[in-house]
Amino acid sequence: MVKSCTRCVLDVKVPEIKFDNSGLCNYCKIYEYLEQQYPLNKNSDKKFREIVEKIKRDGKNKKYDCLIGVSGGADSTYILYVVKKLGLRPLALHLDNGWNSEIAVSNIERATNKLNIDLKTVVLDWEEFKDLQIAFLKASVPDVEIPTDHAIEAILYKVANEEGIKYIFQGHNFRTEGKIPINWGYGDARYIKSVYQLFGKNKRLRNFPLVTPAKLIYYNFIRRIKNVRILYYLGYNKSKIKELLEKELGWVDYGGKHHESTYTKFIQSYILPKKFNIDKRLVHYSAMICSNQITKKEAIKIIKQPPISDIEAKDLKAYVLKKLGLSEDEFEKIMKNRPKSFQDYPTYFQLIKKFIKPIKIVYSLTSPSLPPMLKLMDSSQEKKI
Ligand SMILES: [Zn+2]
Repeated sequence: MVKSCTRCVLDVKVPEIKFDNSGLCNYCKIYEYLEQQYPLNKNSDKKFREIVEKIKRDGKNKKYDCLIGVSGGADSTYILYVVKKLGLRPLALHLDNGWNSEIAVSNIERATNKLNIDLKTVVLDWEEFKDLQIAFLKASVPDVEIPTDHAIEAILYKVANEEGIKYIFQGHNFRTEGKIPINWGYGDARYIKSVYQLFGKNKRLRNFPLVTPAKLIYYNFIRRIKNVRILYYLGYNKSKIKELLEKELGWVDYGGKHHESTYTKFIQSYILPKKFNIDKRLVHYSAMICSNQITKKEAIKIIKQPPISDIEAKDLKAYVLKKLGLSEDEFEKIMKNRPKSFQDYPTYFQLIKKFIKPIKIVYSLTSPSLPPMLKLMDSSQEKKI
């Protein structure tokens, strides 16, 4: 019998999992730590109001006081809604990587129009980006979505810098998403460049937005651009929020988590489970069990079902292969390649690991939150319990 957590749905198949004497896993402990750090009570509400007031003061006489990355999903649409209610003046930023579903795009347009929020869209160089995505598939790593995640972070910083905006609102929510194991989604600029050099057509990326550690230092400490995880401060019930967004903004649900992109849908429901035996739903549902949004019994029932039906998978696969220009044979070869990890390629991982303690101290003194790419390396949360 597979050893699994007494509270959530994670088991020994999840990397880096550990259990305490009572059988509780370290992911549940990270959840408990974050719940202690960001409890939903009067004090945290006061703290949040203070942060909002500071953002308003810092943004005085500027066109915008905060920047919000939008995907068309419930989380980022909800941030737009809340921020506007709080009287902030946001700029919405969207990355068009060529894979956005029509529903996602119309969700963004409808929400920004209704809320009267300016929207900026950055379109990636499709030929280069397509080649980078194929390079990651050929590298045989599970972090195939890292190019998109990295590009979003890079353009958020770039646009914040250009517009003189000091606050970037991040959509991560520990109450519904949980912590993704580092082996399921590591990413940095060196990793992306080295995978492209080994498997890309042109060896060197020309237009793809990258954030090097030097740029990160510049943005965070010279330009003083800060990340705020706004959803940590807000009571968050996913189904209630979806209802609210449908009613207030005409938002449309598209099913699975992060399925606003057809590529993400294909990765999470086909490549990851079939090739790497990874089901990211486990982490999301575990967080939702901890935050009492779903029972363990309900989560087990959902997880037992495949993420998508066989017919849907077949159609999705045909669509993705055609768009990437990959033949069935090339794709089957990719699926059969031995799975590798980011540690098989040159990255900044060892460097960041070595300096994560001093980096965290500096950030804790100057910024409300670690940037997402460093946050993943922060394993101290569970030790504090
Ligand atoms: Zn657990």
